[in-house]
Amino acid sequence: MIKIKTDFDIIIVGAGMVGATLACGLAEEAENLSIAIIDANEPKDWEKDSYDMRVSAITRASQTLFKNIDVWEKIVEQRVTPYQNMFVWDAEGKGKVHFDSADMGEADLGHIIENRVIVKALHQRVAEISNIEFLCPVKIKSINFKDDKTELVLDDKTILSTKLVVGADGTRSWIRQQADIAVKGWDFDQAALVTTVKTEKHHQNTAWQRFLKTGPLAFLPLTDGYSSIVWSTSPDEAKRLTEISEDDFAKELEQAFESKLGKIESVAGRAVFPLRLFETLNYVKPRLALVGDAAHTIHPLAGQGVNLGLADVASLMTVIVEALNDKKDIGDLKVLRRYERWRRAENRSMLVAMDGIKRLFGSELSVIKDLRNAGLNLTDRITPLKNLLMQQAMGLNALKENSNSK
Ligand SMILES: Cc1cc2nc3c(=O)[nH]c(=O)nc-3n(C[C@H](O)[C@H](O)[C@H](O)COP(=O)(O)OP(=O)(O)OC[C@H]3O[C@@H](n4cnc5c(N)ncnc54)[C@H](O)[C@@H]3O)c2cc1C
Repeated sequence: MIKIKTDFDIIIVGAGMVGATLACGLAEEAENLSIAIIDANEPKDWEKDSYDMRVSAITRASQTLFKNIDVWEKIVEQRVTPYQNMFVWDAEGKGKVHFDSADMGEADLGHIIENRVIVKALHQRVAEISNIEFLCPVKIKSINFKDDKTELVLDDKTILSTKLVVGADGTRSWIRQQADIAVKGWDFDQAALVTTVKTEKHHQNTAWQRFLKTGPLAFLPLTDGYSSIVWSTSPDEAKRLTEISEDDFAKELEQAFESKLGKIESVAGRAVFPLRLFETLNYVKPRLALVGDAAHTIHPLAGQGVNLGLADVASLMTVIVEALNDKKDIGDLKVLRRYERWRRAENRSMLVAMDGIKRLFGSELSVIKDLRNAGLNLTDRITPLKNLLMQQAMGLNALKENSNSK
């Protein structure tokens, strides 16, 4: 590593989707701020003829944030798939709901984007910005929180110091552990099997989700008629599904999906991710803030995880820029508490909602099954309720909140 500078206004640990967005956003809003972003892993290049197994449904609010930091164009230049429809149905009954962007007068409900496409676009933007130092791959050995600064000791004994360290290092956050911030979570006992498939029929730019007794199964549209699969089930069942032959897997997947898109014609590699649901008891400490999965991790069933993390970024940016304008210390707990209050309420309500939906669809009680099927059908028929849910899912409410707070 070439050592250029060791003292920064802000050091962000984790250059994933959330951390790298924060770096670009802060650099855009405050040109005089010196920012370092550190990642333990070096970004890898990939073959364009394959898809990333990890994709995200990006809402309008997140798209707007990417546009504001000049990253959206770089994402679109690579590969994105807008989706106009979302179709959700219950495997145990006749309940179904169909969301259509045309009902809202919108061009789409969101975009399905491979995670590595987003990260690559962000790293390209980081490289263009002069007040960001990107240190990677770098291993941090220890962290010392002092009254006036936080110090990070690196593997090669370099000591970096900063007024504020931001932990954006994902669900198993090392920063969170070093800061002794506890998490409160629910045990899901679920895992997500992910893969990419080609189907006989085109996906019609629709995000499909079937609620099985064991968990939701999603087909998310990609380019050229491919679909990204997120199949949530028990960890044992997910393991079994990775071990069976490609042909057997294709047959089981087609059956679980009621052959909605015809035959499964090809299956790429399969991988399993354990699913967790938690939030931290504190998002901040003096000279520390947590963002994204480091602060809260949810079930992927509503495709909101990274969108919540990007909403954290928008709020933290606002709080930091206001503190700078008011000549306040950006690492002061009083400043950071505002960010915590702002984000905790929304993140918690999403966490609770995801847990509720997961339990509702996992229930074996026939009265619950009848009620949830009736609920889905009712939602499908009541236009204002449907529009409200679509607004929430597209992040349009978050956009309004952010513009109101400015
Ligand atoms: C199967 C599945 C499907 C999903 N689908 C969706 C979806 O459709 N929509 C959606 O919004 N969300 C979705 N999510 C959630 C989404 O993937 C996460 O919310 C998102 O990746 C979190 O981003 P992040 O930047 O906070 O963390 P991460 O993406 O985990 O990035 C953390 C970064 O920190 C680095 N790092 C880790 N430890 C250290 C360390 N000690 N030092 C330095 N660097 C470190 C890592 O290398 C990485 O670059 C899904 C999740 C799963 C599991």
